[in-house]
Amino acid sequence: MAKELSRIPKVDKLLTWPPIISLLVDHPRPLVMQAIRGTLDRLRLDSVNGVLPHNINEEQLASLVQEELGRLSASSLRPVINGTGVVIHTNLGRSLLSRSACEQIAAVAGRYSNLEIDIETGERGERYSHVESLLCELTGAEAAIVVNNNAAAVLLALSGMAAGREVVVSRGELVEIGGAFRIPDVMRQSGGILREVGATNRTHLKDYQAALSAETALLLKVHTSNFAVVGFTAEVTVAGLVDLGRRHGIPVMADIGSGSLLDLAPYGVLGETTISDYVSSGADIITCSGDKMLGGPQAGIILGKKPIMDKLRRHPLLRAIRIDKLTLAGLEATLRLYRDERQALAEIPTLRMLTSQPAELRKRGQSWLRRLRGKIPSSVALSLHEGSSQVGGGALPLLNLPTWLIAVTAEHLSAQQIDQSLRKGRVPVLGRIYRDRYLLDLRTLQDEDFPHLIEALQLLVEPPNGQR
Ligand SMILES: *Cc1c(COP(=O)(O)O)cnc(C)c1O
Repeated sequence: MAKELSRIPKVDKLLTWPPIISLLVDHPRPLVMQAIRGTLDRLRLDSVNGVLPHNINEEQLASLVQEELGRLSASSLRPVINGTGVVIHTNLGRSLLSRSACEQIAAVAGRYSNLEIDIETGERGERYSHVESLLCELTGAEAAIVVNNNAAAVLLALSGMAAGREVVVSRGELVEIGGAFRIPDVMRQSGGILREVGATNRTHLKDYQAALSAETALLLKVHTSNFAVVGFTAEVTVAGLVDLGRRHGIPVMADIGSGSLLDLAPYGVLGETTISDYVSSGADIITCSGDKMLGGPQAGIILGKKPIMDKLRRHPLLRAIRIDKLTLAGLEATLRLYRDERQALAEIPTLRMLTSQPAELRKRGQSWLRRLRGKIPSSVALSLHEGSSQVGGGALPLLNLPTWLIAVTAEHLSAQQIDQSLRKGRVPVLGRIYRDRYLLDLRTLQDEDFPHLIEALQLLVEPPNGQR
């Protein structure tokens, strides 16, 4: 072992080599030093593990340093290929923005804008005004505010309407969304007092009614989003709660989670009530996400009756959770597309993916396989299979969307090894493994992924070092 270690040169020595000196021309010295140290550390580790290749020369070592430098200079946050078939994939950035939303963000990002000024009067304006009338037009709501995300929207609404007083919620709706967002915890944080009613599977109007008192500030309905209770169940609709609330002068709030502006039932995406339907059912305040089924940037949308919304506008928490101008630009452009349903379906990637039909996905798969023929190693085989995709984003957890999958197999490689190799590419590819088979779902693959997929598949030749 000692003999192998002695083959690894010292940092000072490396710094006198011409290939390393030339790296210093284009890169800051501290970064080159970091790359050298990182490379040498890795070589020492390889040496200890007995996998250091023999006769490593100056050129090879310099090119390893260059590779390391490339890794250090690359952005940490970067595009990946989503072959998982989960359309609204929280870990992969949820919604892809439409071209017009991306362009609008770019247009506003590097320039001053009328974010908080009324251009006509020259007076101070509100950032929310850029989307408020659009949101009202699209949903029928009286007023709208947008914030950082839906979790913030719920926190603001509860803080503004129920601090120190009781909020009545069904036991079947005390949901946890993605770990940190739990209705009981958000309630505590807001200062509201949770008044649970009913049972996990069944809650009736009389349960809400029995809980009402002088302390009641709000009736809250929460979309169960990421789970479903089936069998012997009962729940009260928002309209039912509104009816009860009206009789007792108590407002009703609905946290609807995903928030869909279009009815996608004609495309097989069944089971979501649209935001406008919630508005017409009379809810006093509604919150939803901008980047789930709506297909916009991360944002929280609050819609509601004017007096309540005016109160929230004055709440000190609003400043802490306010929406950023880039998000606002992306959200406005996304909402504008919804003025024409056909345009929204064609241009908002989330909607396009959710409404893709199996026949077109299969055709796309056949075309991709044809174009890949001859471009990938002969030991790699691709085939098309039927399967199903998921909406994701905590929406419609029971819905399976019929889809087509590309199965990737390679001689001498397990599905796990294929997965590992494809994730290491310049644009990492993420798929799924089912019954020991590596699969890529055509529903979530984008046309611009194709060249990167070829590149990743070309590298699928042999198992990663040391796993042969
Ligand atoms: C997703 C979701 C949230 C949280 O929304 P974010 O936009 O992720 O902050 C809150 N409530 C419900 C019901 C949800 O589905």
